[in-house]
Amino acid sequence: MAYTSLFKKDDVKITTPFSSSHKGLDLSRGVVRQPIYLPNRAVSGTVWKILPSYTKNGVEYKDAPIIYVKHKDGSGSRYIHSYPKDVKVKVGDTVVAGQQICCTGNSGHSHGDHLHFEWLTKWDDLNTRVDPAPYVINDKTQTPPTTPPDTPNCDEYIKQVNILKEENKGLNEALEKSKNETKLAKEREVYLEGVVEEYKASEKSLTERNEYLEQEVARLEKEKGELEYELSQLKNNKQFFDKIIEWLNNLLKKVFGGK
Ligand SMILES: [Zn+2]
Repeated sequence: MAYTSLFKKDDVKITTPFSSSHKGLDLSRGVVRQPIYLPNRAVSGTVWKILPSYTKNGVEYKDAPIIYVKHKDGSGSRYIHSYPKDVKVKVGDTVVAGQQICCTGNSGHSHGDHLHFEWLTKWDDLNTRVDPAPYVINDKTQTPPTTPPDTPNCDEYIKQVNILKEENKGLNEALEKSKNETKLAKEREVYLEGVVEEYKASEKSLTERNEYLEQEVARLEKEKGELEYELSQLKNNKQFFDKIIEWLNNLLKKVFGGK
């Protein structure tokens, strides 16, 4: 399924592709007598020949027209299998892309309603037939160039240029403004980075101070332990002296008190 401007539809099937023994594209939507238009790529052309019938492999096919169109650029196309009543052009007609040429049909050497379409790189030479697919499949965007637009006058150009200049000036101003904003943001970023550094430094000094205090506490605790031990020693000594004094008192009582 593909789009082709031959049908102006996007559900067209290539039922037989181009090959050395089949010098065209067979196209069908599965619906009989579909209108066929001059494809976009042809742009415009002239109907230069219509054969009412033809002979193939010794068989003559009557009421089987072959339509020949010469394109604007010197290439050409052939349309086969339309019924005579569906041929919408006559020899000598000028046609433009999108204009109906004929319909799909089942006339001539054919097995089922379709269009046999050929592309000739030289309009009157059948030996120049090539695969039409690149020219007519998915060719929605190959819109034919319409008649060239009237050349706008100089004033119109100057006006357009001035509008563009004005737009450019505006864009430059906007760019300059955004540059300044970027610069300010950058400065602010540097300042904030400095603040963060300061915080980090003071945090470090507090940590150091804390460690020092912990060491001091430990040292003082140790000192306190030592003093307590000394004090207990002294207490023991005092008890010893107290006992001696008691003993001496008892001795003195014995020596002098007995009298
Ligand atoms: Zn064919």
